[in-house]
Amino acid sequence: MDNGKSRGRKKIVFQMLVMVCILAIAGYFMQAKMMEFLNRTLEESFARQAADMAIAAEERFDRELNALRYVSRCIEDTERVFENERDVLVNKLKRDDERVLAGLVSIDGSRITGDEIPYADFKHLSEVFRGQQVVDYNPRTGLLFAVPVMRGRNVTAALFRVYDSSMLTDLFGMETYHSEGRVLIQEHVHREGERSKEAYGTIIVPYRDYSTSDMDFFQNPTIMEGFQEIHRRLYRQRSAVIYSEGSQGKFFLFGADLPRSNCSLIGYVPWHAIAGGISDIYSMIFYAGILMLLLFAFVSAYLFVIHAEAEESKFLREAAEIADRANHAKSEFLANMSHEIRTPINAILGMNEMISREAVTDSVKAYSLNIKRASDALLSLINDILDFSKIESGKMQLVASEYRLRNVLNDIVNMIRYRAEQKGLDFIINVDKETPDCLIGDEMRIRQIIMNLLTNAVKYTEKGNVTFTVRGDKVENGTILTFSVKDTGIGIKEEDLKKLFNDFQRLDLQRNRTVEGTGLGLSIAKRLADMMGGHIAVNSRYGEGSEFIVKLPQQVAEASVSVGDFSPDRVNGLDGKRYRESFTAPEARVLVVDDNEMNLFVAQNLLKATKMQIELCKSGQECLDRLAEKRFDLVLLDQMMPGMDGIETLHRAREMERVKDIPFIAMTANAVSGAREMFLKEGFTDYISKPVNGILLERLVRKYLPEEKVHAVERVEEPVFVNQKTEEIMGEPAVAKSEPAGKTSGDKTMFSSEREELPLLDTELGLKYSGGMEDVYWELVEMFCMLKNEKTKGIRDAYEKADWTAYTTNVHGLKSTALSIGGRRLSEAAKELEMAGKRVIGKDAATADVEAALQFIREHHQATLALYDTMVREAEAKLAERPV
Ligand code: ADP
Repeated sequence: MDNGKSRGRKKIVFQMLVMVCILAIAGYFMQAKMMEFLNRTLEESFARQAADMAIAAEERFDRELNALRYVSRCIEDTERVFENERDVLVNKLKRDDERVLAGLVSIDGSRITGDEIPYADFKHLSEVFRGQQVVDYNPRTGLLFAVPVMRGRNVTAALFRVYDSSMLTDLFGMETYHSEGRVLIQEHVHREGERSKEAYGTIIVPYRDYSTSDMDFFQNPTIMEGFQEIHRRLYRQRSAVIYSEGSQGKFFLFGADLPRSNCSLIGYVPWHAIAGGISDIYSMIFYAGILMLLLFAFVSAYLFVIHAEAEESKFLREAAEIADRANHAKSEFLANMSHEIRTPINAILGMNEMISREAVTDSVKAYSLNIKRASDALLSLINDILDFSKIESGKMQLVASEYRLRNVLNDIVNMIRYRAEQKGLDFIINVDKETPDCLIGDEMRIRQIIMNLLTNAVKYTEKGNVTFTVRGDKVENGTILTFSVKDTGIGIKEEDLKKLFNDFQRLDLQRNRTVEGTGLGLSIAKRLADMMGGHIAVNSRYGEGSEFIVKLPQQVAEASVSVGDFSPDRVNGLDGKRYRESFTAPEARVLVVDDNEMNLFVAQNLLKATKMQIELCKSGQECLDRLAEKRFDLVLLDQMMPGMDGIETLHRAREMERVKDIPFIAMTANAVSGAREMFLKEGFTDYISKPVNGILLERLVRKYLPEEKVHAVERVEEPVFVNQKTEEIMGEPAVAKSEPAGKTSGDKTMFSSEREELPLLDTELGLKYSGGMEDVYWELVEMFCMLKNEKTKGIRDAYEKADWTAYTTNVHGLKSTALSIGGRRLSEAAKELEMAGKRVIGKDAATADVEAALQFIREHHQATLALYDTMVREAEAKLAERPV
């Protein structure tokens, strides 16, 4: 764009230069023409002056001749009267100046009176005797005027007067109108018509101060040429003027004939004396014109440029506005669409969950699993697009709050480790012990960035390892977190590196065609990092692997606390170190509501260390009664209870004045994607999935307790557990990016063959659910064994009475209690019975379906009870073995 603009400017400057050149050339020719015109005009007017001058000169000569004529008349008369009177008159002609000769001479040449006449000197003198008046010149003698003296018709004598040359200028010298001009009278030049070669005749009346330098002037070739031309012209006209320009300078040369005497008049005037002023004015007008033209040209060019630029910038502005609006509309559209699509997908996922649970045949289960995988991928895509459009439209806002880096790392590592292991990759973690732990920033978005990089590393690596390195570098007002994700995967081609962070850009498609992705992950990660004031860099070698390095500045809330040892073992929370509560709140009252006493027991024990006042109750009604009695700070409410379920209980409780603002946390075993939203919509404050995890429960409770009742415990060592629902508890509904298929824990259904491989009692898992608190765990196991007979009886009675509602509630309880101590196989079996039970009691189930479900229960009822029995025996054996 800028290039084009400067090219445009250069073009305009070039055009201007061309224009100025043309103007200059045109100006030059115009000026020359103008001068020519001026000179011609001046020549004409000066020629008239020259003619006038010639007339004036001739008048003087005439005056002289008239004076002589007067005397000659007198003599003609006196001849008859007095001779001496004649002599006096002639003598008077001499003017008492000895340089003047005057006399009367007879026709035979003899002197009558006065001076002797130098006959030989004047060749025209004889014409007098033919009755002519004569003006003749001889440089030696001077200028002669002679008139005839008549008697009757005959010439009797000639009266003459001769002036010495030295007097002529005074007597007959001419002056031009211009003081700088010079004029002289010369003898006639012999002319041969147009071919006259003579420039000058003999000078008769030079001008004043005529000197040798003037001779030089007249001998100058240009001047001579000029006068030759004048003489040529004088052949045809009375006066002539020409403009001459040469080494002497610029002159007007002029000439005119004095017809009655044998003389002509020539002279010159310097050009500037006549034309100078006019030409100055001409030049001024001319230059002013040129200047105005130039000014006009420049102003037009300037206006043109300004106009063009204004047009251009207006165009650009409009284009930018249009693009902006279009982009905004696109983002808005994407955001709306994503939102609209998300809702039905959640419904699909929920329904599919039901299908998968209630599916009888393996093929239906497999179809359902495929639906789930596709929906998950779709949801992940929609979430990415939503994030992307949020960022695009500027609606993405970072929410900074205090968080523990350790928790973030734990959760991330746990999620990724599982995926890496599924693919047979080693997952290596290096966390610098000194990295500060208590930070302030947008925890959720940091998770998102790092999860993206780690998911990609696992996705694009077939064998080898993924190394995750974390470090914090102290800076003035916080720390710069550096996360490095290095893999030994397919790598990225050099030429693809620059496209890596482009929106919707996927690379190496041939190789990656089987890998799911949208090409949005990295661009979102980069934008988020940018928003945080950080950045992402990549090093990669094609075929060898890649390293993504993210640097994010974060504020430090508590500089003295660092993440500490983060060895892989500790991440699992199985390092044998005891759990310690993160807070105590002896004044806080918490009500836990669950129809299952084991769940009550679990909750109570998990929270025991916090020293809160925990009260338990077993039904919705009981819960309402308790709430009416006294004030609680928090209620943990199970959703699935016989009679009044959690949601109904909450709605009724909210009607009570004192309960309005008490936080209610839903507990449910049937968590599907979107469950959290559903519970929040129903009016719950938050949500936790069962089996309840101790750490998460503690975190959640702490979040909602009145602050004044919470006393933090100095240093917290938080063991972590593996739970698919961590993400849900953390915030957004959990949709793992292209989650690998296969074994899942919790509520996800398994194929029977897979189930057979599960351990009867997975103590490790049980321990994790108990937050690593061994005492609590074993107490739970003991309680599980103790309650076996009672529970078995409940299930069996319901079966025999065909009370499928009670049956379903009972097996549902067994499902979660078994899982909470690590009885995964039993939990799965109970879950299948629960789902079949639901199908039987379902309102709009088809008869055939009900029959199939009943059939399933009949087939599996006994086996499940037997499994229950076996498991309890194994548990009892482990209890006995346990070192006390
Ligand atoms: P996708 O959803 O396709 O994974 P991303 O924006 O996360 O989109 O990544 C863009 C592209 O960058 C991917 O399609 C892949 O070709 C390449 N890529 C990202 N991470 C890696 C990696 N660790 N190793 C090799 N290629 C990668």
